[in-house]
Amino acid sequence: MKKPIIILITLVSVILIRCEKEKSGLISKNQEISFGEQLDSLVINSPEDYNVIDENEYHGAYAYLNNIMNKILVSDGLNRKDYFEWTIRIIDEDVLNAFAAPGGYLYFYTGLMAYLDNEAQLAGVMAHEIAHVDRRHSAQRLEREMAVSVIISIILGENPSQLEEYAAGIAKGLSTLAYSRNQEYEADEYAVKYAADTDYDPRGISGFFNKMEEASQVRTPEFLSTHPDPGNRLDAIDEVWESIGSPQGQDFESEYAVFLEYLPQGQ
Ligand SMILES: [Zn+2]
Repeated sequence: MKKPIIILITLVSVILIRCEKEKSGLISKNQEISFGEQLDSLVINSPEDYNVIDENEYHGAYAYLNNIMNKILVSDGLNRKDYFEWTIRIIDEDVLNAFAAPGGYLYFYTGLMAYLDNEAQLAGVMAHEIAHVDRRHSAQRLEREMAVSVIISIILGENPSQLEEYAAGIAKGLSTLAYSRNQEYEADEYAVKYAADTDYDPRGISGFFNKMEEASQVRTPEFLSTHPDPGNRLDAIDEVWESIGSPQGQDFESEYAVFLEYLPQGQ
């Protein structure tokens, strides 16, 4: 008797997944949170893939990042800030990257933080990652990647072992999963808008792209994914900034230098 229902759900799932513009999503808020928790748990328990440093041992570094996050989360530009318990993790590895998981989990590599010049630049990258979660990009990306059968398992609450297996695979590649070009532009746009509601220079996100261009580096972190050209992104960021009245802000460079000493040293 269940078969027709499953076939119907499968059809609906396929239609929804194929619909790029689907905003409300197939996975509910609670399912997104629960899946995010599962991914985060896999990340923090996979030291061979993600060397997450302890919050108690590096309290100063975490407090500094949480302060930046709380300033950004005050922005009226966010739609879903109250949905999640936003959580920051620091990964100690010399990698120029940051990434996010559904449910409000934000991950920053020490290599990226050591590379940046000031707090406004880090706030820009963080605002970009927050936008991927708040605009539901991270959830949509997972929905697209998921096999229909897995989504149905989630919806019906069946077959938890299949979901666990799937989550393990996703967690391993979480730091390198790519977003679409439009999602990257949208995350840049909202990174500027969120930061404009704080005392940061709203163009902090540009700082990273400028540095990369100057150094002619060819690395591709998540927020510099292969799709949009960094030069085009800088132009788009400037356009957004001008459209909201070119607000100024601060860099907090000396505070940032102090913060870097809280991180594990010796990279
Ligand atoms: Zn991005």
